Amino acid sequence: MSLLTVRDLSVQYGTVQGGVLAVDRVDLTINRGEFVGLAGESGCGKTTLAMSIPNLLPKYASIVSGSVEFEGKDIATFSESELNTLRWKDVSVIFQGALNALNPVQRIGDQIAEPILIHEPGTSHDEAWRRACELLEAVGIPSARAKSYPHEFSGGMRQRVMIAMSLACKPKLVIADEPITALDVMTQAQILDLLRELSTSFDLSLLLISHDLSVLAETCDRVQVMYAGRAAEAGTASEVFGAGNAAHPYTRRLLNSYPNINGERVFIDGIPGYPPDLSQPQIGCRFAARCSEAIDVCRTSEPDLVAISATHSVACHLAGKSVTHG
Ligand code: SF4
Repeated sequence: MSLLTVRDLSVQYGTVQGGVLAVDRVDLTINRGEFVGLAGESGCGKTTLAMSIPNLLPKYASIVSGSVEFEGKDIATFSESELNTLRWKDVSVIFQGALNALNPVQRIGDQIAEPILIHEPGTSHDEAWRRACELLEAVGIPSARAKSYPHEFSGGMRQRVMIAMSLACKPKLVIADEPITALDVMTQAQILDLLRELSTSFDLSLLLISHDLSVLAETCDRVQVMYAGRAAEAGTASEVFGAGNAAHPYTRRLLNSYPNINGERVFIDGIPGYPPDLSQPQIGCRFAARCSEAIDVCRTSEPDLVAISATHSVACHLAGKSVTHG
């Protein structure tokens, strides 16, 4: 049984103009010990999909269809207290921007100890503090710094504190939402190495959300590319991001938007245009207006996500057909 199974999930935001489906009939599976990446432009539904898992959606958003199953149990059937147990003990979140996520007037040792005290009744404050110190050591921060406040740390160290906090209740799945975006490249590399090390020692699965395809390619076992609320392509990291392997025109354009430090110096194309307005009905392929390979059927019929190998799926009318890749 998979650790997490998201099936045909749709999530809608209520707006003054009406409902907007930010996630539209998306599947996602994460197995134990697996690192899965979510890629795509801002607003493609990555964070909404991820926050549906521990049911941390904002009040004006709701799951309108589909299901999220954790260890075979549908979270829609969970009571509020079961949901509170799911959060932290089974699934924890490393939020983007550690300075905003940490309490500026509380010592970090207390902030790491707090979920332990809440979720493991009977644990003494001394025991929770000792575990907080151990977690700090595990993420490379001397335990003596447990008495410090967030402003006394660098950005990279605060992100390490967030990682330590996410591990406080020994969760099975950690959702990391752009955990390294604001950090310099050296610190990014250290944090990614740390997540890999911790995944083994803490027996973790990870859902990693990032704009940075190279981070996902290096860190994840499998990846899913999202576009305008739909899954465009999914497969192993090498099937989707390996040289010449991407099967969806959007994935190829995303990959071409990154400079190649080994190749000739060329201007980056980027992707022309903008994602569609999801408050309007979507007809045909959502990428058609920006796709240089679009054919007539793309403007009238939405492509399904179809398997082109045992582990690689693509939502494109040209999938599996011979095309010249730009
Ligand atoms: Fe491009 Fe058509 Fe494929 Fe959409 S279905 S990505 S428009 S070729």
